[in-house]
Amino acid sequence: MAEGTPMMLQYHKIKADHPDCILFFRLGDFYEMFNEDAKTASRELELTLTSRDRTRPPEERTPMCGVPYHAAEAYISRLIAKGYKVAICEQMEDPATAKGLVDRDIIRIVTPGTVIEETMLEEGKNNFLCALCLEEEKAGLCFADLSTGEVSATGFAGPGWREHVENELGRFSPREVLLSSEAWEDPLLQDFLRSRLDCRRERGGEEAFAPGPAARAVEKQFGPGAEGLPAGPVTRCVGALMSYLYDTQKTDLSHLSSVNYYTTGEFMELDLTARRNLELTETLRGGEKKGSLLWVLDKTCTPMGHRLIRSWLERPLLSPVQIGKRQGAVADLVGDSVARQEIARELKEVTDLERLIGRVVYGTAGGRDLVSLSRGLGRLPDLRLLLSPFQSSLLSVLRESLDDLADLRGQIDAAFVEEPPFSVREGGFIRDGYDAEVDRLRGILTGGKDMVAAMEAQEKEKTGIKSLKVGFNKVFGYYIEVSKANYAQVPDTYIRKQTLVNCERFITPELKEMEHTILTAQDQLTALEYQLFCQVRQAAADRVADIQRSAAAVAQVDVLCSFARVAAENGYCMPQVDLSDVIDISEGRHPVVEKTRKGELFVPNDTHMDGKEDMVSIITGPNMAGKSTYMRQVALIVLMAQMGSFVPAKAARVGIVDRVFTRIGASDDLSAGQSTFMVEMTEVAELLKNATAKSLLILDEIGRGTSTYDGMAIARAVLEFCADRRRLGAKTLFATHYHELTDLEGEIGGVKNYNIAAKKKKDDILFLRKIVRGPAAASYGIEVAKLAGVPDKVISRAKVILDQLETEGVPLPAVSAAPEDGQFSLGDLGAQSVADRLRAVDVDTLTPIEAMNLLYEMKKEL
Ligand code: ADP
Repeated sequence: MAEGTPMMLQYHKIKADHPDCILFFRLGDFYEMFNEDAKTASRELELTLTSRDRTRPPEERTPMCGVPYHAAEAYISRLIAKGYKVAICEQMEDPATAKGLVDRDIIRIVTPGTVIEETMLEEGKNNFLCALCLEEEKAGLCFADLSTGEVSATGFAGPGWREHVENELGRFSPREVLLSSEAWEDPLLQDFLRSRLDCRRERGGEEAFAPGPAARAVEKQFGPGAEGLPAGPVTRCVGALMSYLYDTQKTDLSHLSSVNYYTTGEFMELDLTARRNLELTETLRGGEKKGSLLWVLDKTCTPMGHRLIRSWLERPLLSPVQIGKRQGAVADLVGDSVARQEIARELKEVTDLERLIGRVVYGTAGGRDLVSLSRGLGRLPDLRLLLSPFQSSLLSVLRESLDDLADLRGQIDAAFVEEPPFSVREGGFIRDGYDAEVDRLRGILTGGKDMVAAMEAQEKEKTGIKSLKVGFNKVFGYYIEVSKANYAQVPDTYIRKQTLVNCERFITPELKEMEHTILTAQDQLTALEYQLFCQVRQAAADRVADIQRSAAAVAQVDVLCSFARVAAENGYCMPQVDLSDVIDISEGRHPVVEKTRKGELFVPNDTHMDGKEDMVSIITGPNMAGKSTYMRQVALIVLMAQMGSFVPAKAARVGIVDRVFTRIGASDDLSAGQSTFMVEMTEVAELLKNATAKSLLILDEIGRGTSTYDGMAIARAVLEFCADRRRLGAKTLFATHYHELTDLEGEIGGVKNYNIAAKKKKDDILFLRKIVRGPAAASYGIEVAKLAGVPDKVISRAKVILDQLETEGVPLPAVSAAPEDGQFSLGDLGAQSVADRLRAVDVDTLTPIEAMNLLYEMKKEL
């Protein structure tokens, strides 16, 4: 397309207003992209780059590429997944009737945080857009899921704001974050968003985040005094988020009907490290759901339930009363497996009411969506009935909230056929008998012949001409034909149209009216069907709040049923949850490991911890004994109890824990370029800063990443800090290799030794998996190495070294220069000369290139 044409001028004008978007510019049946957009899109979507102004020299040509409009969604979805924003520019008038240049305008801007298309969303996962506002030491956060209509907001003040903000961001893991200027300029925050969350970042406009305009946007969307939102950064971020949605979506957003303002006091805060280490929703290594706690607990049957159980998992409760309510409901459902199964069967038929009503309000729903909405709601009366025998207060409340909106359903069912076609623009979906005019128009279409015959008969009778005929041709349309012999009888009202050899053709006003009726009936019918569709869709949209309430109740019933099923199938018990500082578990199991051990039994273990004598447990034992499994098991049981779920144990009492902290194994931050030890110490620092006496700490192998003495010193200092009630005094599980630390029992109050029992059987080791009091007798490192398949020669040499170490206490016996028979030394590996060269190197004078070369040579030699 040549530059300077009126259309290109139009393009540049629109593009200038949306410099940060890839502009999809509608041209007939295609969306075209130009210039840089075209280059980006062709690279990302593997499209061919072309240009139309071939007559010009190549450097003056405008690069372009395009996608067919009907396939655009798939391309847009790929660009969004890569973090781009796409602006969709449509033709606002019919090119066939437009005079001159077709009017074009942006109808929507698609961004990762604002997609609503089914194909771009994950069914069981929310898609959050976040707005974040900072004001010195105050922060406001708002999260909205446009596809379901949920909006939540919270705020923090004081020096700890950063940590809280990161935790909330980690919990919601938004796809896109809108930042106020101050937040945008905060390098730590930017770094966190980039490296930990991998979400799209957008700098919000000053205007949108300004207190006045933000407050007005909040009021416009949620009404005056919206749910007691505090002024300051909270209102500012909610307002800015709404402005962003108005700017990008340009449509009705009334399904975002309320803001849920919460304070973190309601939920247990979990940082990203704990969430990941405990593998709540995905595994540490593969990032898969399978193998996570969610994988065990999620037996929900509806998309709403899938999303809610994730959110319950991410935010365990802190109030025993609230937890008790969930427990009561789960207990009810555990007790009646028949009803539970029937409920599950009903739930499976409930459609995604939340997202359906979202699309209805948004204006993208079709006839199928409305039918699907009605079908889903239609399950609710049976669901209510199935829930009626249960006594728990929560189930009763939920039952009452399951409104099936019978009137709306009646309207939808009456209006639409059972399987409406995909498009609402081509008719064919309104049920016969719903609307008299639709029936009449359909009658005309199917009965066109009858009408012609009827008119023919009528005219014959009126004129008395027996041979009169009504015919049709493309030029004149319908006509009345009279043969020459009967001319005299033709009435004056007939208008002559055509004279043939033997006959004349006439028309009459009634005939033309009939013609008009038949020929326009099709157009009228499709228009009318669409109009009726819009009426019903509006009727549904008007009930958005009721539908959302029902959907929320369905989701909760679904999650409670899932908890109950998992509890019943896996032999969980209902924990006693209170405000004590006791954690008492009898025969506890790891919920995930017990499911993944095929054929082998999981050995249950007891736990007793309190804020007094049993505050800190030092856990020793060989590698592979089951230390980290045990510690995670305790943490998971506590979390599950606070979610309202039953727990894998024979009996359990859980005093509410305000937070769970973990420091476990290798971290996934290694790719960010930090050393293992640095990562470890950063995590320890965070944890010691933020833990309280009400927290539960899981510390695995503190100090491992540095030299023995350093490591041990740090481990001991951390342990003392945790056990000291004047400093922290928090319940702590502390696994360590430093056997020396076991001397602390008796020395420091509240510290007890435990070990996971293992037995030596000749050269082999037998893991008993039982946690017992006292320090481990030996570390069995060599036996574990053998178990892992380390070659026999290495094993026997290690034994020799160990013997020497144990008897002589020397730091390291010399490498045996002349290898004894059957033994192994570095020399055997042909590495002696390499070692000699290494010794001779003066590292201080080596250039990087020399070092590389040396390394290369030595490697080759080896
Ligand atoms: P450690 O942390 O002591 O090195 P892990 O906790 O990683 O050991 O456990 C090692 C293996 O033992 C795991 O594969 C786990 O499946 C198994 N295991 C741990 N605890 C138990 C148990 N109580 N019953 C059965 N198998 C267990």
